[in-house]
Amino acid sequence: TLFLDRIAALDPQLNAFITVDRDGAIEAARAADARIAAGRAGPLTGIPLAHKDVFCTEGVLTTCASKMLGNFVSPYDAHVVGLLKAAGAVSLGKTNMDEFAMGSSNESSFYGPVKNPWDTARVPGGSSGGSAAAVAARLVPIATGTDTGGSVRQPAAFCGITGIKPTYGLVSRYGMIAYASSLDQGGAFGASAEDCALLLSAMTGFDERDSTSLERAPEDYAAALAAPAAGPQPLAGLRIGLPREFFAEGMADGVRAAVEAALDQYRALGATTVDVSLPNAKLAIPAYYVIAPAECSSNLSRFDGVRYGHRAADYADLADMYSKSRAEGFGEEVKRRILVGTYVLSHGYYDAYYLQAQRLRRLIAEDFRAALAQCDVIAGPTTPTTAWTLGAMADDPVQMYLSDIYTIAVNLAGLPGISHPCGFDAGGLPVGLQLVGDYFGEGRLLAATHRFQ
Ligand code: GLN
Repeated sequence: TLFLDRIAALDPQLNAFITVDRDGAIEAARAADARIAAGRAGPLTGIPLAHKDVFCTEGVLTTCASKMLGNFVSPYDAHVVGLLKAAGAVSLGKTNMDEFAMGSSNESSFYGPVKNPWDTARVPGGSSGGSAAAVAARLVPIATGTDTGGSVRQPAAFCGITGIKPTYGLVSRYGMIAYASSLDQGGAFGASAEDCALLLSAMTGFDERDSTSLERAPEDYAAALAAPAAGPQPLAGLRIGLPREFFAEGMADGVRAAVEAALDQYRALGATTVDVSLPNAKLAIPAYYVIAPAECSSNLSRFDGVRYGHRAADYADLADMYSKSRAEGFGEEVKRRILVGTYVLSHGYYDAYYLQAQRLRRLIAEDFRAALAQCDVIAGPTTPTTAWTLGAMADDPVQMYLSDIYTIAVNLAGLPGISHPCGFDAGGLPVGLQLVGDYFGEGRLLAATHRFQ
C-alpha cells in the first residue's frame, strides 16, 4: 500500500487521479503475490501503475475527464489494459487528463486541472497530464498515456520524466476512447527509459479488434537495453539529425541552453550530429488542427445520450435531447473542436481545408523520410517553453495550439518519438529533449535515451 498511501497523502494537492481503485488494487496485488510465490512472475508482475482515463477499464469508471462520461462504467477492458492485467501489473486507478484528450495543459478536464509536482502553480502539460504528474511525484512508478499530437511527450517534458509514443499501429486502440483515430497512439511514461521499455514491451502486439493494428511480434525493449556497450563510447556510431527549422527561433532561452548542453553530452558519448531540414514542419500545426478536429467531430458524434453517457433531464423531443445532452455534457474546448471539424468536413469546404491538410500531411511525412535517410534519429526540444502558469493560456486556444509545434509533425508522419529530461531552465523547471526515429525505431530511441541517462 506504499503507493496508495502516497496517493492519499499527495493527490489532494496534485489532482492527478480521477479514480483511485484501492480495493481492486489490493485484490490484484494479492493475486500477483500468489503468482510470484508460484514462480510464474513476469517483469511487471506486482508492479503498480495507473491508466489514463481514456482507456476503458471493466468495472471501473472511465470518464475521459468529461461530464459526458461522468457515470460511464465500461463493460470491457481496453486491449492495453487487458495485456497489462495479464502481465500481473496492478492498476491503482485512472488518471486525470484534458477532456477527451484535447488540450496541452490538462486544464480542460471536467475534474479540474492537474498541478505540476515541480511547482503546483504550473500546468503539468497535456493531455496525459495526470499520468505524467503521478509518475513525477512517484505516486506510481509507471503509467499509460495516449499521444495524438504530443500528449505523452509534452507532459513528460513538463514533469521531468521520460515518455514514449510508438510507431502508429504498434499499440492497439481497442477500448481507447477515440479522439483522432489516424493519429491516436497509446504510449508509456516512466522515470527512466528502462521503465518505459518494460511498460511498452507489455503494451504492444497485434490486435484484430483494431483495424490499424500492425501484425508484428512484440519486441523485448528492456532486454535490448541490457546489452553492454561495445566500447568506451556507448553511443559511438549514432548519427543524430538536427533539423535547422527546430533550432531557428521560437525556443525559450532556458530550453535552448539545456538542449544544447544535452547534445554536447550526446557527442561526448560518441554520437555525431548532422544538419537536416524539415522544410514543411511549420505547416504541421495548421494541418493537424484541421485533421484532428475533423476526426474528432466524427468520433464524438456517438455521444448522444442514448446508449450511455450524460442525458439531459428535460427535453421536448429526440433532437432536443441530443442537443441538450451534448450542450451540457461537453466542455468548451471539445465543442470548439467539434464545430471546427464539422465545418472543415462540410460540403464546399472539404476540398479547401481537409484535403489540403491531408496533402500537407504527406509532405511532412516525406520531409521526415528524407531527413531520416541522413541520420539514425532526429533530436530537438520537445516543447518551445517549460511548463507555464495555470491559467496563462486559458483564454487563448491558438497560443496553446502553437505550443505543440515540435511534437505534432511526428504524429502526422506516424513515427515514434521519445521525450527525456535533459536539464532545467533558470527557474528550475525541467526541460525535455525529443528524439524521433524511423518506423519501428522504438528500441533505438530507448537505447539512446538509456545510455544518455
Ligand atoms: N495538444 C494537442 C491537442 O490538443 C495534442 C493532444 C493529444 O496528443 N491528445 O490536440
